[in-house]
This record gives sequence, structure tokens and C-alpha cells, in this order.
Amino acid sequence: MEVRLSHVSWKKAGEYFAARDVVLLPVGSTEQHGPHNPLGTDHLIAYALALEAGRRAGVAVLPPIPFGVSVHHSHFPGTIWVREEVFKEYVRDVILSLKRHGVRRVVVVNGHGGNLGALLSLARELRSEGVLVAVFQWWSLPALGELFGREELGHAGAAETSLNLYLHGEAVDMGSAVDEEPSRLPTDGLAHLPEYTRDRTRSGVFGVARTASRERGERAFELAVEALTRLLEEVSKLDPLQPFSER
Ligand SMILES: [Zn+2]
Repeated sequence: MEVRLSHVSWKKAGEYFAARDVVLLPVGSTEQHGPHNPLGTDHLIAYALALEAGRRAGVAVLPPIPFGVSVHHSHFPGTIWVREEVFKEYVRDVILSLKRHGVRRVVVVNGHGGNLGALLSLARELRSEGVLVAVFQWWSLPALGELFGREELGHAGAAETSLNLYLHGEAVDMGSAVDEEPSRLPTDGLAHLPEYTRDRTRSGVFGVARTASRERGERAFELAVEALTRLLEEVSKLDPLQPFSER
């Protein structure tokens, strides 16, 4: 089955929506990922995960949304950002279009942590309208702790870099990779500041990136796809208008 919504006709889409009420929506960012990773890292990884899980589960995959809430990276060339409220409303309209076609469950594969606040706020609002939005983030999976150390899981670190090496290694320049321990701020532990990335790192890397490998990227990808496939099963049992703990 062709799962990419972008690659089927309205006729095929109609057949799908008559049979299934669930889709995968990859979202990410176009932003700096250190001197060695491509700007598209977040939406490229999200799309790859969604496509593989969609193929295994027979679930349709929307084209990825490539721009997100990335203003904190704005000092690095090539970073593109949209305001949080714009992002939220854009995703809302995408999901409400799907609702008109009968979709009631949307698994958002989010590749960029900065999008999470807007996505969860939107998900809560859409729940009362009878649409279940679940947000999946690969780097939150506890099993990744067995593959990567804490200092490797930061922005543009070895975990993200390894996934890039596995999925589109030609876009990674490991010769330019650096490790950088993020600076501490005198207000750490006292307040949340409107931080920019450059307040803490000059390279754009948070932590250790140079230990990345294609092999660990492949294992991380498989772990994440398995988890996402399980999530699709669980989501199909939930009714947004009923307590999640009752079936
Ligand atoms: Zn990223």
C-alpha cells in the first residue's frame, strides 16, 4: 500500500478514510543542528519514522511540516522559524481538514522539542472536539538510554547525528562535528530566561556529537519505529470523549 498521502489520488484517499480514521502527521523544523548536521534534521527524521511505521501498520502519512518553533536558533544561518501561535493554528487547520474527511486520531511524529508546547495545547483543545492527537517524540523513549549516554542525547548530539548518518549520511559532515559542553548561566535553577541557543553554545551542539555512528542510528531508528507502531495500536483503542483509562 502507498501510505504517502502526497502520492495517492483523491479517490484512493477516499477509500482509505472510509476504512481508517487514523493518520500520521510528521512535524519538525528547519534549524541549525551544529556545524555537521543538515538544517532539515528534525523534519527529515520525523518523516522517515512516520513512513516506516505507516508502512508496517498500513496507516497513511501526511507530508511533513518543515517549519516549527525555532526562534531560539535564529542567530544561526539557515534557521527558519514561525511564531508559536502561527505553528499551532497551522497544525490546527491541517487536523481540522482531516476531521472533515473522517479522521478522529492523529499521531503527530514531532521531530523538534520546541514544538511540543504548541502541540500539546492544541491537542487538549481538539480532544473536546472529538479528535485525539497523540504526540510522539523519538528521543523521549526510555530504551534509548541503553544506546546513548545522557550527554549524547542533547540537541545535535550523537543520537540525532547517528540517526542522520543512518537515514541520509550524505548530508552529514562528520569532519566538522564538535563536542561542546553547554555553558551554565548564573540564573540556572532560579529562573527560566528567554534563552537563545547562543547563550549556551557557540557551535550549536549541546553535548557530545563526535561519537555518533550509523550502526547506533539504525538501532535507534528500529527502536523508535517499533514504539511508534505500538502507539498506533494503543491510540486506536482510545476514545477522546471518554476517560483514557477506561475502554
Ligand atoms: Zn533536532
